[in-house]
Amino acid sequence: MNREDFSILNQQIYKRPLVYLDNAATTQKPQVVIDALNNYYTQINSNIHRGVHYLSQKATDEFEIARETVRQFINAKHHYEVIFTRGATDSINLVASSFGRTFLHEGDEILISEMEHHANIVPWQFLCEERGCILKVIPFDDNGELILDKLNELLTPKTKIVAVSHVSNTLGTINPVKKVIEMAHQHHIPVLIDGAQAVSHCKVDVQDLDCDFYCFSGHKMYAPMGIGVMYGKEEWLNQMKPYQGGGEMIKQVTFAKTTYNDLPFKFEAGTPSVGDVMGLRVAIDYINHIGIENIANYEHELLSYATERLSSIQGLKIYGTSAQKAAIISFNIGNIHPSDIGTIIDKLGIAVRTGHHCTQPIMDHFGIPGTVRASFALYNTKEEIDSLYEAVVRAKMMLE
Ligand code: PMP
Repeated sequence: MNREDFSILNQQIYKRPLVYLDNAATTQKPQVVIDALNNYYTQINSNIHRGVHYLSQKATDEFEIARETVRQFINAKHHYEVIFTRGATDSINLVASSFGRTFLHEGDEILISEMEHHANIVPWQFLCEERGCILKVIPFDDNGELILDKLNELLTPKTKIVAVSHVSNTLGTINPVKKVIEMAHQHHIPVLIDGAQAVSHCKVDVQDLDCDFYCFSGHKMYAPMGIGVMYGKEEWLNQMKPYQGGGEMIKQVTFAKTTYNDLPFKFEAGTPSVGDVMGLRVAIDYINHIGIENIANYEHELLSYATERLSSIQGLKIYGTSAQKAAIISFNIGNIHPSDIGTIIDKLGIAVRTGHHCTQPIMDHFGIPGTVRASFALYNTKEEIDSLYEAVVRAKMMLE
């Protein structure tokens, strides 16, 4: 699908055609996104919001159009609920720090899940250390599905926030986040969704989900690195203390007292990555043009095909067999170390990721050091999956 837009894919690695299956780590960028960056730096580059001159105003206008593009993409109610950040990690740190400093006290509980990326674990652990809060964990079963009955038990009058991923970057599980949000809201507890692996694979509607915060990165959805989004409901953002202090986030500064700017600027201290915001806007237009449903259906076809082919390899075990899955397959073969498989198939031109994928608690759950992870995007093909299959079979023969 639209493979011709990604010229990076037309290269040989070790004299073999590149088969790029590391999309959960980062996707490649279509030419229109690269052109948008070039256009910004050759035609528009100027600092935003503070200038009266033409270029500054143009950059500001384009930047705010991009905010509206993101608003529509996730169906936020207001454009000022869309805060630009450096990525999902930055977004989650923003919420943990700012929500935490505003609302959390000793003995309060934070609820996450066993399948979180470290980016949705460690910022909450900082808070626990600083404030004396308690981190609690919703377990998953051996298929990689959250055990929702446990969630009910774990929600207590002390729970102050729930933070779970929409899609697991290791297991591929699409979590029933709407249900999680509903259950937490019955107790008036806000919910943060880590959408880093979801936004480029399924339709996200933050009003329909009714989540309180939704965090994602641009670079996993065909946009540049270094740009991300933190969506937050107005009612929370208005109450929360700012994350970082600096230019743009203030209304007035005196040495005696500083007052803060309105949303969204209160959470956007300093010069943002304006060029990358342009790239994000074009990436969203690109996804919209193809249609997120079409992308989801196509990737699902790839997932089914890859699951069927890889499962036919004797001794190969797939981690994450949830009924609802995004196009991510983690696997191991017997006791072969995943990095040995990754190294051999790399020499055959195949880019997969090996290791713990920043989800060490998932590895602990299964008692393994890591997995081989193949993850698919809209430009991958069944022929590439055949190449993966053949390479894995070869690696297995060499290593067993
Ligand atoms: N959450 C999940 C589920 C992820 O997969 C990732 C990236 N691997 C992140 C958070 C962090 O994203 P970033 O590194 O772009 O900030």
